[in-house]
Amino acid sequence: MIKTLSELEELLPLSPEEKEAFERVSSVYPFSSSEYYIRLARKSEAVRKMVLPSLEEIDEDVQSAGEDDPLNEERDSKVPNLTHRYPDRVLLITTNYCPVLCRYCMRKRNWKRPTFTISEDEVEGALSYIRSNPQVRDVLISGGDPLTLPLDLLEKVLLELKKLPHVEVVRIGTRVPVVDPERVLRRDLLFLIERSEKVWVNTHFNHPDEITPEAKEAVRALLKCGAPVNNQTVLLKGINDSVETLEKLFRNLQKIKVRPYYLFHCDPVKGVIHFSTSITRGLEILKELFKRLSPLAIPYYAVDGPGGYGKVPLLPHRFRVENGKYLFESFNGKWFVMEDR
Ligand code: SF4
Repeated sequence: MIKTLSELEELLPLSPEEKEAFERVSSVYPFSSSEYYIRLARKSEAVRKMVLPSLEEIDEDVQSAGEDDPLNEERDSKVPNLTHRYPDRVLLITTNYCPVLCRYCMRKRNWKRPTFTISEDEVEGALSYIRSNPQVRDVLISGGDPLTLPLDLLEKVLLELKKLPHVEVVRIGTRVPVVDPERVLRRDLLFLIERSEKVWVNTHFNHPDEITPEAKEAVRALLKCGAPVNNQTVLLKGINDSVETLEKLFRNLQKIKVRPYYLFHCDPVKGVIHFSTSITRGLEILKELFKRLSPLAIPYYAVDGPGGYGKVPLLPHRFRVENGKYLFESFNGKWFVMEDR
């Protein structure tokens, strides 16, 4: 892991502004990255912006416009590290460790805490909550990054969940295939995912530059062991908030059999707001993408309701009602009428 300015500069020459930002920001929001991702930042401006600290993070307006936990994840926590908001799904946080600290992270509040990995007792507490709540059919394991957990701990979680008949889906939210793809290629990890049977992997590609030969190989390995791979992208100002960039990203994901699943509107998190576009802009982009891509390559664009209201998918407005009739706009901008029988 690259953590200090001198380690970083050995791999990536910095401008005086970037150096100043590193020095002033990293004491508030630390810096950390895999070597692989820093090498990618040499070739990609977008990656550079996602990984290097910037002074905007500590700007007063950016700070005051956001909250540490706007989605109230901690309020909905039922037992330590487990959030139960939707009736049939729970979120299990297993660590706050990530191979890269992404500057736009919605859980930036955890960066200030000492690194933690869920203890065996906490795993048992979470499993016992899930066992006694048979309405839970989907467990999302997230972080931090669960693919950085000690393998025996991940094995315990996955194999215990496998035993529970009411848990039908186990999702692992991970950025490892993007930021440290070699880590995915460990045989013991892949074998565990295969044995766990219920695992779906949610990756987190934000920009086409991240779909490298190494990342493709990591995805191929996951698919080979039977885990469907879906992708979550965050809409980020100055990084991917253009039709061309997202079209390329979603097309290239589809080519490697990764289904674009969510395009998240940037959450109002303290130290992150400068990455936020307007919702209007997000919908404009989506409307254009609907004309260019097949639905299989278009993710849900969603806002996550501040205050813990959950996710709401948004669609660009392509119909209106007039005199009891529905008017719809087709992919090429022509309007047609359908009666509401
Ligand atoms: S990998 Fe996810 S949880 Fe970790 S820093 Fe990046 S966005 Fe945040």
